[in-house]
Amino acid sequence: MKYFGAHVSAAGGVGNAPLNAHKIGATGFALFTKNQRQWAAKPLAEADIEAFRRNCDAYGYPPQAILPHDSYLINLGHPDREALEKSRAAFLDEMQRCEQLGLDRLNFHPGSHLDRLTEQQCLDRIAESINWALDRTEGVTAVIENTAGQGSNLGSRFEQLAYLIDRVEDRSRVGVCIDTCHAFAAGYDLHTAEACEATFAEFERVVGFAYLRGMHLNDAMKPLGSHIDRHAPLGEGMIGEACFRYIARDPRFDGIPLVMETPDEERWPEEIARLKAFAAGE
Ligand SMILES: [Zn+2]
Ligand SMILES: [Zn+2]
Repeated sequence: MKYFGAHVSAAGGVGNAPLNAHKIGATGFALFTKNQRQWAAKPLAEADIEAFRRNCDAYGYPPQAILPHDSYLINLGHPDREALEKSRAAFLDEMQRCEQLGLDRLNFHPGSHLDRLTEQQCLDRIAESINWALDRTEGVTAVIENTAGQGSNLGSRFEQLAYLIDRVEDRSRVGVCIDTCHAFAAGYDLHTAEACEATFAEFERVVGFAYLRGMHLNDAMKPLGSHIDRHAPLGEGMIGEACFRYIARDPRFDGIPLVMETPDEERWPEEIARLKAFAAGE
């Protein structure tokens, strides 16, 4: 089973996310469980939690088809103690929201050294943050997203993802989400089926498909290795359609959320239909 979808709006309450996913023909989806640009959030209301669970049931979205994303403000590798603690507290709150909603994974960007820590110091700090949050929660896997490597953002190399996984005490609750646009921007070619074969063989060797908990399916506006994170509609960027056909047909990507963060929401129904057709061998 392939869970294709998009990062849908949860405006008006988290219970609306599964409805919005259903409307575009999605079999999986991503969402923010709070405003992603603000630190503070009201606790989830009981009625919202119930609506979310009820609508996920009604429209057939099991936890493994859903990939919540944390706030963009969080930096689990922050060089300043105070800012680091603020990020950790916000991350824990995000994990707890997932617990309340019955979700089993939380997608996040690893963190940035802001040119004030070495890469290794920052990665060690991120691993420490993950362990800290996992100690305080149950049943939610920390899903590290690969990045484009823009600025001082870590996590663009598969080796960095593996380094973090190695330092997490409970390996059963750590995983990764591979964003195709970010991988391409980081220098991993995905332009042809052959290129995909080589890139995902490297992923298997360095990280391992056993840790893959989700994918972000985005085409890239900028060329291979640009380190610039600009998403394009599927098949219309520098990656091209072959990559998405490859993923749709490959069983190693079964059973996890495969969600688009492509720029034009109007086109999501058509993009999802195309992915479904690829999966069906068309
Ligand atoms: Zn992404
Ligand atoms: Zn991105």
